[in-house]
Amino acid sequence: MLTVPQNLPSRLRLVRKRIEAAANAAGRSPLEITLIGVSKTHPPAAVREALAAGLSDFGENYVQEALDKIDAIGPGAATWHFIGALQGNKTRPVAEAFDWVHTVDRAKIARRLSEQRPWHAPPLKVCLQVKLGGEQTKSGVAPEGLRALASDVAALPRIDLRGLMCIPPEERDPARQRHWFRRLRELRDDLRDAGHALDVLSMGMSGDFEVAIGEGATHVRVGTALFGPRG
Ligand SMILES: *Cc1c(COP(=O)(O)O)cnc(C)c1O
Repeated sequence: MLTVPQNLPSRLRLVRKRIEAAANAAGRSPLEITLIGVSKTHPPAAVREALAAGLSDFGENYVQEALDKIDAIGPGAATWHFIGALQGNKTRPVAEAFDWVHTVDRAKIARRLSEQRPWHAPPLKVCLQVKLGGEQTKSGVAPEGLRALASDVAALPRIDLRGLMCIPPEERDPARQRHWFRRLRELRDDLRDAGHALDVLSMGMSGDFEVAIGEGATHVRVGTALFGPRG
């Protein structure tokens, strides 16, 4: 059993080492990979500690919790990624407070985000969330609907469509994990062939980020391995 370091700076160092090793093994530069620290349910103090240790990107799932935290930290102090399920009536604060949204899965939400993005901010960076396993309970656009959604979202003036995101079905077998990440990369490649300039694959969490990096992840979303278990 691997021992997990007790303090956040050592856990961050360890995760960065693992990212570097996975990138090297895949013949990629670790500089291509952005580590997003998923700070949901953890207090602002944890984010401050991570910022002090050199982490700059944070992911949040719940709108109100995130707004309180961004307010406590100071809006310009970090790059904020919204990675939770987004309801139509919660788009405005997300468009106002976040730099990225990884979970766009329908055109209506994207239209609202575009309309509500403040004029003084740069266009909101967006990934389309794809539902790879066809699970009834999960969000995400089905692969069959991806092409149409990408065209709709790419046309919006205040949205910068950057790539695809997935939360694949839970698998313990790395070969099965790899299968899903490869599928997302292929879908991204299809969209590139169709003319979309997509540079982002947001995939991989604490349990599988090394496998995701092997299949081209550019953004890994890591919570537990950095901040410890959620209460
Ligand atoms: C919570 C969450 C994560 C982080 O999960 P860990 O297993 O704790 O690393 C990543 N992505 C999304 C979308 C999440 O909701």
